[in-house]
Amino acid sequence: MKAWRFYAFNDLRLDDVPVPTCLAGHVVVEPLVVQPSVTEAQLACGIPTLAYDRIKRRLETEAPLQLFGHEFCARIVETGSGVNRFRVGDRVAARAKLPCQHCALCESGRSALCRRGPVIGFDLPGCFSELALLPEIALVKVDDSISDSEAACLQSLSDSVAAVETADIQIGDTVAIFGQGSMGLECLQIARVSGAGRVITVDVRDEACAMSKQLGADHALNANTCDAVATIRDLTEDIGADVVFECAGGSVKQGLAGSRTLTQAIDAVRSGGKVIGVSWFGGPLEVHIDTLRERSLRYLFPDISTPQHLEHTVRLVASGRVSLAPTITHVLPGIESVPKAFEITANKGRYQAINPAQVKMRG
Ligand SMILES: [Zn+2]
Repeated sequence: MKAWRFYAFNDLRLDDVPVPTCLAGHVVVEPLVVQPSVTEAQLACGIPTLAYDRIKRRLETEAPLQLFGHEFCARIVETGSGVNRFRVGDRVAARAKLPCQHCALCESGRSALCRRGPVIGFDLPGCFSELALLPEIALVKVDDSISDSEAACLQSLSDSVAAVETADIQIGDTVAIFGQGSMGLECLQIARVSGAGRVITVDVRDEACAMSKQLGADHALNANTCDAVATIRDLTEDIGADVVFECAGGSVKQGLAGSRTLTQAIDAVRSGGKVIGVSWFGGPLEVHIDTLRERSLRYLFPDISTPQHLEHTVRLVASGRVSLAPTITHVLPGIESVPKAFEITANKGRYQAINPAQVKMRG
């Protein structure tokens, strides 16, 4: 079968590789729609972000290597022994970070806290191939009312559901969100259906602000044309927002905000409020920690998504409470388009993309 393999950073080739053999507790799937995550698209170019050292080491010692491809919709073509939740023909999506199933946390029913298990696309091959072998515990069945393209966004959406759950929004809370890329837009929509009274979003791209307004932001601020922190404080009688999601930080070269939006998030949240750190920064940061201490701020990081989060995403999309289709701006035909999808996703601003670029694997 054909599969994309990395030989090094920036060196991706479409190779012939053996068809995967189905294992117990696993399924073999035919990927239908796959998108690189923003993290994967940056790692593919060798830009430091989440898991950079791990991927670099694997490339140096194991290349050529099937990497990435955890955001997908796929159809099951074979089920291994012991698989009872799925049948051949089912469409599935996945969560990426899996529990090891052996450690003391996993064995005491706290597998969501386990960090020893594999990550699809990082430790296990993902779906940039004609067929892929996946563990049953990663998967959720996709409702018939959800398109293949929408289903490819469910992994990211389940991480956003976990982030909003971590925020523990109280009914009527004012929520601010820095960054209106795919996860920022997801947090916006999930916050709205999770009790937020008012949602104020911030981005620097006109197309992202327009999308944010369309998907329900009460105020969509363009930080290039206004002082976002001052505006949020004005809108909250100079108190600040109860909860702030920081979804814009990261590599400036790729159009992300560096650490500037983290500082802004801290300035825009009320005393005793919560900043939810969704971004990855790729290295150490300077933060004025005494400000957090003085104002009793909570800087929280999202839990990893569980099967319950993933199942909730299916309900959110199937019921129309979360809308993904308008954010899908680029869909490319055929497995040969995968490198182009990485290029667009790593440089979304330049291509006016909102969601990562998707690939319809069969054209
Ligand atoms: Zn474990």
